[in-house]
Amino acid sequence: MRNLTVSLCLSLCACSTTGAAQNAPYVLQPGHMDLEIGPDGNTVIFDAPDGLVVVDSGRHAAHAQAILDHAETITGKPVATLVNSHWHLDHTTGNRDILARFPQAGLVATGAMEAALAGFLARSRTAAVERLADPTLPADARARTQRTLAALDDRAAMVPANPVLADGPLELGGRTFIVHVAPAAATEADLWLIAPDEGLAVVGDLVVAQVPFFDTGCEDGWRRALDAIAAEQWTTLVPGHGEPMTRADFTRWRSAFDSWLDCAAGKAEASGCAEGWMANAAGFYAEDERENVRYLAEAYVAEVLRASADQRMAYCVTAAAADPA
Ligand SMILES: [Zn+2]
Repeated sequence: MRNLTVSLCLSLCACSTTGAAQNAPYVLQPGHMDLEIGPDGNTVIFDAPDGLVVVDSGRHAAHAQAILDHAETITGKPVATLVNSHWHLDHTTGNRDILARFPQAGLVATGAMEAALAGFLARSRTAAVERLADPTLPADARARTQRTLAALDDRAAMVPANPVLADGPLELGGRTFIVHVAPAAATEADLWLIAPDEGLAVVGDLVVAQVPFFDTGCEDGWRRALDAIAAEQWTTLVPGHGEPMTRADFTRWRSAFDSWLDCAAGKAEASGCAEGWMANAAGFYAEDERENVRYLAEAYVAEVLRASADQRMAYCVTAAAADPA
């Protein structure tokens, strides 16, 4: 059920038209939406004294190539540091492309990938192997599946040597970012950061504009993470998918998030919770995403948020362990 849902959720993404600009302090390489092949998450590229700091690497080869083009053709600077906000493959599959070209770049992430490779992603790997055994698999789908498999088998490009464990200032590429770790939120441990000079918050899938991707999420930890984001100093927030947000946008999105979770915790029909999301989050999804967003907003309530306590706790363990209460 989770695998079915994640494959559906990861088929959604926003398209932004934000363009790359030479010498800009940061550039948004927007995610790409394709309902057939799955999305890429947003990538943010910072200019730094030692090179580029790249946050998230997307899923598809074209997304990774756009990052490499920005480095090699537009700025002529190497990637000094690659950051992963979380382990989902629409944010990490391109790691190996970037690290193959810039092997000196450091990988900065939480330690959650390790457990994901042994759990959720081990099941993804099994599914990929089974798919490749099907002789009728079309060539383009085969190439994408082989790309996924190669990423899953490249531990050095996925697992950081020194995981980020705690909040605090962190020097990346020769400039200082404020890094936060959110336990048991969208994944077992999400990383998000503030770029103080730009007043920018880059938060990965702690904010997905269209609808929170709850496949590996934990309600309480996620709410705490959003509290922490609200408490930080920033003026623009880049979500994991969708357009950048102002503080007012974020506040409205947060309100929709809370209402939706409150509905899921109550006795209303899942379809009613989805209707509430559609109304409260209007403007955060495109018209041509409406049908899929509504489906996901209902399916997450029915299949994930109202799953058995055991299933829910699978993603809330870190938060429970970290909770002093
Ligand atoms: Zn994502």
